[in-house]
This record gives sequence, structure tokens and C-alpha cells, in this order.
Amino acid sequence: MRSVFLYSPEFAKFKAYQGYPWLFQRSEATYRLCKRLQIFDRDWMSIDAPKPASTADVLSFHTQNYVSILEKANDGAFEEKWLRYGLGTTECPVYKGVYDYHALAAGSTLLGAKLIGEGKADIVFGPTGGFHHAGKDFAAGFCYINDIVLALKKWLSQKKRLLYIDIDAHHADQVQAAFYNTSKVMCISFHESPKTLFPFSTGFEDEIGRGRGKGYTINVPLPENTSDEEFLWAFERILFPLAHAFRPDVVVAVLGADVLFSDPFSHLQLTNASVCKALEGILQVSPKLLALGSGGYVLDNIARTWALAWAIMNGLGPREDDDALFGGMFWGDNISSLNDRPHFVPDHLKEKVTRDLQGVVHGIEKNVFPILKIKT
Ligand SMILES: [Zn+2]
Repeated sequence: MRSVFLYSPEFAKFKAYQGYPWLFQRSEATYRLCKRLQIFDRDWMSIDAPKPASTADVLSFHTQNYVSILEKANDGAFEEKWLRYGLGTTECPVYKGVYDYHALAAGSTLLGAKLIGEGKADIVFGPTGGFHHAGKDFAAGFCYINDIVLALKKWLSQKKRLLYIDIDAHHADQVQAAFYNTSKVMCISFHESPKTLFPFSTGFEDEIGRGRGKGYTINVPLPENTSDEEFLWAFERILFPLAHAFRPDVVVAVLGADVLFSDPFSHLQLTNASVCKALEGILQVSPKLLALGSGGYVLDNIARTWALAWAIMNGLGPREDDDALFGGMFWGDNISSLNDRPHFVPDHLKEKVTRDLQGVVHGIEKNVFPILKIKT
């Protein structure tokens, strides 16, 4: 097995404005923690530095007009007429280097796609990636360039069967929109219900694709307060039958750390045990895997969860013999373990979530599984 961690110290050099919630240090923090825990010291691993995506690559999805505006915005001077493209909002401000940062992030994901496409890696992890809200001609929800769509499009031209699995508090709206009419990309998104979270208007279970794409878009909206037990039940019940029926050549997975109970931007009650268990499931169905970081608004959570994820992608933990490394006490800062402690959720909340989520899962089994000839 060959695995590649995508990292550039350049990511951490950007800054939008004081208090902007997007953590430009996400790759840096994950890299440093992995380094400190000596997780990189394995002969099958390497660390590769991405280069910015070319304009031509960005144009494989985004419009010329939008890309020109984004390039112009790179010097940091805002023009009011850009608001119609989502630029200049609180979540997608115009700042010096905005294009450079997002082109580098897209370049990172595209490097992952290239390494896997050329057979140079089996597993790639790019912590700065997963910008699933960026539309063809607009920015939204901290996302300006849709690196996921760019990578999937590259592989589509190589006639690969592509499974996209998105675990993030927010619905993968613009990845869904890009592949809504095709059966060549299966998009499965697990996210907090749009009834209570951005993007509010998409991500409901009755969005299942259109035309040839019918049955190839699957949405699992998680009720607010969903905890590990309910999430993992739904995850396994949905993912395995779909992945076995679809038989992907490559899997792209988004592992957002904003699903955690300690994240300020969502109302889920998951611990990172959910992310780890889900990742183990994803690895079982992935001949090749490109994993991306996506959301997450607490730096310690990001670093711990994604260091753990990188370890799991490499078969390193959390097993008993790795316990001293991953589960036990270690030094420095305020991080004492990569694993979240168990998180208590009262029974009355769990019962309500269970009822609602059963309705969602049974609905998908009834409406989507027969299209794909999956027996329940
Ligand atoms: Zn998110």
C-alpha cells in the first residue's frame, strides 16, 4: 500500500480578517500533530506538497466570468457588484490572496486525484479540501472553488466509477447539483438536516437524482442531536448496500470535523469515534480512496480527528498495541488524547432522533434501493 498526505506550509500563511472562522491552519495543525506522534514514520507513506490548480483546471467546472472575478478579488479590494456571486459576505469575504488560497486547496485535491489516477497512491488525505458549497458561478459557506467537483470530473474523463461520500454537518449541495443527472457518480451525503442548518433548502431524503441520475444521489439528513449510536446505525445501513451495488473504482470521502458535538456551527452530538468508525467502513468499500478534510471550526478537534483518521487510513489505530500512541496520555498543549471522551446524550433526545432517523433510512430503502436492485 502507498499512502500520501498532502501538505503545504503555504496554507497557514493566509488570513482573511480577525475572527474569520475558517481555520487556515487546518493542514498545519494536523501535520504537526501527526509529526509529533511520529505517525508519518512508515516506509509506505509520503508527504507531497501541492501546487495551485491551473486556471484551465478551475474552468473545468466554474464559469469564465466567475473565475475572472475571483482572480481580480485576489488583491483584496472588494467591489459591491460581486455580492451577486457570493463574494464579500461574512462567510466568503474578499481578502488578499483569496484566489491563491483556494487555487492551492483545489491543486491539493487535484494532486490527490492525479496520484491515484496514475497508480502512484492507493490512499491520499488532503486536510485542506472538501469545499462542497462552491457553485459554478458563486462562492458560499466558506467555499470558493469546488475542488471535489474538479477532481471527480478529472476521473470521469478516465471513465472511472466514482463514489462520493460526504460526512460533514452541512449538505454537499454543489457536488450534488453537479452530478444530479448522471449515474456515473454516486453521491451519498450524511449531514445535519437542512431543517436546522445551512444550506436549509437542499439535502432532504427525497432528493435522489434525476433522469439517468435517479437513484445515484442519496441524502441522509441527520436530526439535530444525533449521537454516535444513531449515526452509525444509519451510516452502515445506507453505505454498505449502496457501495456493494455500485462497485466504485475510486471513492472520494469528505470527513468534516464540524459533525462533532463540540463544534459551534452544528447541532449534532457526535464524537470522533463516529468519524473513525465511518472511515473504517469507507475503507472497506474503497479500492482507492481520496479523503478530504472539509468543515470544522475548532482547531484542536480538527487536528485530533484528522490525525486519528490518517492513522486509521494507514491501518495504525486505534488498536491495543497503538494505544499508548493514540489513546493514552501524551505531552504538550491541551490535547491529551486523539479520541474524544464518551459524550452523554439524554434518552429522550436519543429516542426522538431514533424515530426520525428510522423514517429517513426506511424512506431511502423504499425509494432508492429498488432503483439499484438492492433487496432489503
Ligand atoms: Zn460543514
